[in-house]
Amino acid sequence: MLIDVGELKKDKGIFKNYNFVLPFSYFGFEDKKGLASLNFEGVYSKGKVLIKGKCHLSYEGVCDRCLKSIQVKIEEDFSQEFNEIFNTKQAGSDVEERYLQFNGKELDLKEYFRQFIVAIFPLKLLCFPDCKGLCQICGKPLNEGTCNCKVNHFDQRWSVLKKIKDSCSLGKDRGGVKNGSTKEKDIQNT
Ligand SMILES: [Zn+2]
Ligand SMILES: [Zn+2]
Repeated sequence: MLIDVGELKKDKGIFKNYNFVLPFSYFGFEDKKGLASLNFEGVYSKGKVLIKGKCHLSYEGVCDRCLKSIQVKIEEDFSQEFNEIFNTKQAGSDVEERYLQFNGKELDLKEYFRQFIVAIFPLKLLCFPDCKGLCQICGKPLNEGTCNCKVNHFDQRWSVLKKIKDSCSLGKDRGGVKNGSTKEKDIQNT
């Protein structure tokens, strides 16, 4: 992903349009199949190149709950400045700084966009917000209906609440034998 800085310098202050469509493999994302489309404009001014535009990602993902494959589309804006350096002494000591600099006539944007794309990948993918997932016993996708397994197919999001509820009712049962339960029986009998 090279930008010809020499060309931008000829027309200082004038924005040029760029359009790259690249497979994920270009950025080293071997675990996902997809395309990154990068549309932006760039300008050179006072020792800096500024780019700003839109990043579209389109790839095949997997629902975290039911493992169904889903087509994911993400759109995100970006803008970034890159600094010109004139000798290696000026260069940033760590790699993180260096990818935001350029020296000479070309600016390589590969590392910048690799990091940008990693940052916008969603942490969790769902085929739809209320996906019920798979039965833990027979593996049936519960979005298609219930199965005959003797388990509670409660929504996975409520699992924490269910644990709290279970521990509360356990406590009640233990205490109830000595205290409340006989009284309740008396009341019901009368
Ligand atoms: Zn799902
Ligand atoms: Zn089942």
